[in-house]
Amino acid sequence: MKYSVVKTILNKIYTSRVPDPGDLEFVLSLRDPEEIREVFTFADKIREKFCGKGIALRGIIEFSNYCFRRCFYCGINKDNSKIKRYRMSRKEILDTVGRLVSCRIKTVVLQSGEDAGIDAAWLEDVILSIKSRFDIAVTLSVGERENEDYRLWRRAGAERYLLKIETSNEKLYSSMHPGMDFRHRIGCLNALKSLGYQTGSGIIVGLPGQDLKTIARDILFFKKRDFDMIGIGPFIPHQNTCFTDKPGGDAGLALKTLALTRIVTRNAHLPATTALGSLDRDYRPEGLACGANVLMPNFTPLPYRKLYEIYPQKRCVSEAPGACGTCMEKMAKGLGRFVDYSRADSLKKRDQFTAHS
Ligand code: SAH
Repeated sequence: MKYSVVKTILNKIYTSRVPDPGDLEFVLSLRDPEEIREVFTFADKIREKFCGKGIALRGIIEFSNYCFRRCFYCGINKDNSKIKRYRMSRKEILDTVGRLVSCRIKTVVLQSGEDAGIDAAWLEDVILSIKSRFDIAVTLSVGERENEDYRLWRRAGAERYLLKIETSNEKLYSSMHPGMDFRHRIGCLNALKSLGYQTGSGIIVGLPGQDLKTIARDILFFKKRDFDMIGIGPFIPHQNTCFTDKPGGDAGLALKTLALTRIVTRNAHLPATTALGSLDRDYRPEGLACGANVLMPNFTPLPYRKLYEIYPQKRCVSEAPGACGTCMEKMAKGLGRFVDYSRADSLKKRDQFTAHS
């Protein structure tokens, strides 16, 4: 058998409690297609061992594009006066959850900008209504809020929360999030975890000023914090942001980051993100073949879907709701896998997931 340096390093990364950032950087820098293939195959085996062949589904509803933040990369930032803002009503959200449930989906992700107009008690009521009508897991992704709000929503039955750190490099974070505090975001992640949420985080790959060393540190950050889920997507420049002229993230680098994240975190839920599907072509099948085990079909009602433009050319903005089912099945089949219609709770073993307060 041919001696492979890459394989040796991957094994070292896989078995280390604290992988060497230099090793991670080395893998991220690989250019040879055959060596990259080795990385992807290695990650795919780890995915198979710890997560199996199932592809879990999370139906996402982007229920408000109001945002008071000014993140330099994001198309729904407050300063973008060119987009029409919307906030779905409780009834619209419940009707949409009904559609998602009829597609056999057992997790809904309620995502929005950081919208001061979302009253904590209103969202509590939405969660309670969903929980009383449907047997479905609720994931929230509404940004940084008071601990009291997080507690209220957890008590109402929300089990999961996504809050991407975007970059774990404090300096880089501060440079593109005016008025935001890296430490505060970390504090939110801590609070969510201690309230018993299955907690998700993640990064954008290819942010201006982010180098391979930074991404290597991000991967170590994921390992150290033992997140239940991690979303990794490439940066896609948006025309109405100050990053409009910056180069977009590279799909290959995003895939290598995903593969390494699988290798170090073993059983975290990793989606093949919508951003990965919104580049020159759809890279989600590659994502699923190098570590990802989750897909997030979009259920935002059509008139709103194109308004939730965090980045341009977001995929499926004009596709009929419900068309996703066939598409997901096809993608899974093409990979010799299957769609897992269960709730697919965290694979991390923690007692508090069953508790509701
Ligand atoms: N407001 C919520 C998240 C809503 S946007 C929060 O603060 O958690 C969801 C995700 O879209 C963000 O976490 C970010 O990672 C991603 N995103 C935003 N703009 C992007 C861009 N231009 N390219 C790629 N991903 C982007």
